[in-house]
Amino acid sequence: MIPNDDASTLHRPRKRLFIGVLCGACAAVLLLAFLLWWVPSVGLANIHPALPVVFGTVLGATALLLVAGLGLLILTLLTGRDLFFSDRLRGIVIKYLFPGIIALGRRCGLDRDTLQQSFIALNNQLVRARHLRVPPDRTLLLLPHCIQLFDCEIKITGDVGKCARCGQCDISGLGELADRYGIPIAVATGGTLARKIIVERRPRFILAVACERDLSTGIRDAYPLPVIGILNSRPHGPCFNTELILDEVEAALREHVVSGTP
Ligand code: SF4
Repeated sequence: MIPNDDASTLHRPRKRLFIGVLCGACAAVLLLAFLLWWVPSVGLANIHPALPVVFGTVLGATALLLVAGLGLLILTLLTGRDLFFSDRLRGIVIKYLFPGIIALGRRCGLDRDTLQQSFIALNNQLVRARHLRVPPDRTLLLLPHCIQLFDCEIKITGDVGKCARCGQCDISGLGELADRYGIPIAVATGGTLARKIIVERRPRFILAVACERDLSTGIRDAYPLPVIGILNSRPHGPCFNTELILDEVEAALREHVVSGTP
């Protein structure tokens, strides 16, 4: 487990990066819209004098819609409130903007992990803006198997309840938290098993712990289910004896799980 004192220095992904790249993309689209209007408008005027105005109106309306959507997204993030359609906005970000922003960010030389961290932070805030309160039995705490101590001989993938709570890895603390809040907990060895667990348990809210890549994919796969992603840390390298900040998990449970919570 990562000591609480270190919590403030770890994994503070910045949604601002994702928003910044998004703004850059928006500016590029506006410029492109202007060029698309300006370049052919000379020729269009030759066909009919009103055509440049019609074409310009259509392009302008499209560009305005884009800017309004971005403005709404930024306002939702700044206020932390569900202003309008925060879930729809999350859907648009997840389905359409995420792949484009990652590709654009990579072209600009930005680190993929940092971009994915930013996307996860942005997703989390959009989920938080909905102020969900979900019963414990409709919540799912989904963990990666690399949180378990590599040398532990107990197989917990099928049943986390088998953990002897020896305290040598974070499964112990997570098990105690899950008991205290009365929520189901599951360990997935990969995306396929994670999807199977979600289909079987049919949660209404998922609290998922994983690395940047798995969380980004998982959040997108699970949509429209609300998922709050918590990054694990890899002090011993990827996929091996990973750790997390238990307080982060508890804070999310306290925020979103109803009755039965302490
Ligand atoms: S806390 Fe549980 S899973 Fe971790 S090493 Fe101990 S018995 Fe194994």
